[in-house]
Amino acid sequence: MAESKKYDAVVVGGGPNGLAAAITIAQSGHSVALFEANETIGGCVRSAALTLPHFVHDICSSVYPLAIGSPFFRALPLENFGLQWIQSPASLAHPFDDGSAVVVERSIEATSAALADDAAAYRRLFEPLTRQWNGLDVELLAPLHWPRHPLNFMRFGLKALQPARRLAESCFRGSRARALFAGLAAHAMLPLDFLASAGFGLVLGASAHAVGWPIVRGGAQNLADALCRYLQSLGGEIFLNRTVRTLDDLPAALIVLCDLTPQQLSSVAGTRLSGKFRRRLNQFRYGMGAFKIDWALSKPVPWKAAACARAATVHLGGTLEQICASERATWRGFQTSAPFVLAVQPSLFDRTRAPAGNHTLWAYCHVPNGSELNMTDAIESQVERFAPGFRKIIMARNVAPPRELTRRNANLIGGDINGGAPILKQLFLRPTASLYKTPAKGVYICSSSTPPGGGVHGMCGYFAARQAMRECFNDNTLLDSRSSRLEAGVEHHDS
Ligand SMILES: Cc1cc2nc3c(=O)[nH]c(=O)nc-3n(C[C@H](O)[C@H](O)[C@H](O)COP(=O)(O)OP(=O)(O)OC[C@H]3O[C@@H](n4cnc5c(N)ncnc54)[C@H](O)[C@@H]3O)c2cc1C
Repeated sequence: MAESKKYDAVVVGGGPNGLAAAITIAQSGHSVALFEANETIGGCVRSAALTLPHFVHDICSSVYPLAIGSPFFRALPLENFGLQWIQSPASLAHPFDDGSAVVVERSIEATSAALADDAAAYRRLFEPLTRQWNGLDVELLAPLHWPRHPLNFMRFGLKALQPARRLAESCFRGSRARALFAGLAAHAMLPLDFLASAGFGLVLGASAHAVGWPIVRGGAQNLADALCRYLQSLGGEIFLNRTVRTLDDLPAALIVLCDLTPQQLSSVAGTRLSGKFRRRLNQFRYGMGAFKIDWALSKPVPWKAAACARAATVHLGGTLEQICASERATWRGFQTSAPFVLAVQPSLFDRTRAPAGNHTLWAYCHVPNGSELNMTDAIESQVERFAPGFRKIIMARNVAPPRELTRRNANLIGGDINGGAPILKQLFLRPTASLYKTPAKGVYICSSSTPPGGGVHGMCGYFAARQAMRECFNDNTLLDSRSSRLEAGVEHHDS
């Protein structure tokens, strides 16, 4: 029984951050056990036959610029444990009502060439960021710190802290480039006139050129399984179907790392945390929710703009004004009939996802936190708007409103997929000013509710585990090879 054993560290929750925390501990030679509530590992990085037999759907996340670009994941031998990335020919497509689309190619030159009057502005915005990506990634995917290249970082920061709408309107003259930037920035799940919403558009846009927006061959689960197998190869133990209701249920350990959001941490840690700290956790603001649908299709999506078939990810929302209106209304608690929809069509590039000739489609839109409204028709109408005939090829659908997302993964509070709203106050100091540390001795939080926030990159888990080891084991063991970029880039934040 795990409970009767003693470990150097235990981890609650097996999402990418919980797995990254456990791997960080195990890599330094310490014993670690991970307890996961679900019967499968991975949190938001899992796959299942949600619709029909032999159709593989990613139950939450699907596209991984931040994972392939993660300084921590990149340093792991995950390919030896079954991970294979697939890059679609283009990173992203953004169709318009006239039957055309803007396509983000890996090449900035090729992308900008289709932006007419905005070609030069696009290159000016994204070329420096893409060129500096190797270096900027370790600065961005980290807690706030003094950067290695302050001038570069300041230049980025001045743009990133702006509202996305203002940046799009000041940089671009044409509606196509503006709309493209709005779609990128809308991943923030914030109104696009909020400060710092531009940062999401800049980072995601630059990553599309620098590292691509890949999917995982065979489904997202293969990324989680690769992390899991690597952890086990280091001696880490994993226990599934183990919902931790209180930290007292856990085996003895010097360190407890919680891949949980503040509300859950407050509940499982109970009186181990001071009343003041629990109040601060309870003040943490969760963000908009998601309403997700997975479809089994008899054919590929019949896009009006044929170029959409070259990209795994397609942004369906029309113009900057339309995307802004959808995000603003949703943030204010209203539901829009024309939501911004993020769609992914993995089976076009990965034939393992569906039977021959058939296809899968994944899409979600943002909804008010905890919304009970059925968005099926609104989402399908947005797909139909850019792909007439779409409804005719649907063989089956699986619908996941916020309540179902929370059932799949307790961290998705009210359907919030980012572990808390990335409003300015919570962008750097999340969930509190003490970041990973809690007042309970040895207890740390390591989920996406800590810096650097949402997305599949594992950096929250890595930094939390590093801090925990430093404070509890008095151990600043250097991981991996001393010459690695991870060390060069990330280690200096630790010191
Ligand atoms: C619909 C959707 C689409 C997304 N799309 C993308 C995408 O394409 N690309 C991207 O980069 N990001 C995407 N994200 C966001 C990304 O998946 C998350 O930010 C990321 O998974 C957070 O990792 P985490 O380890 O902090 O938490 P999670 O992945 O949420 O994992 C938390 C784990 O803790 C477990 N747990 C919770 N409570 C307990 C308990 N009491 N005891 C034991 N275990 C517990 C849960 O079961 C879960 O396994 C998406 C998320 C969703 C929901």
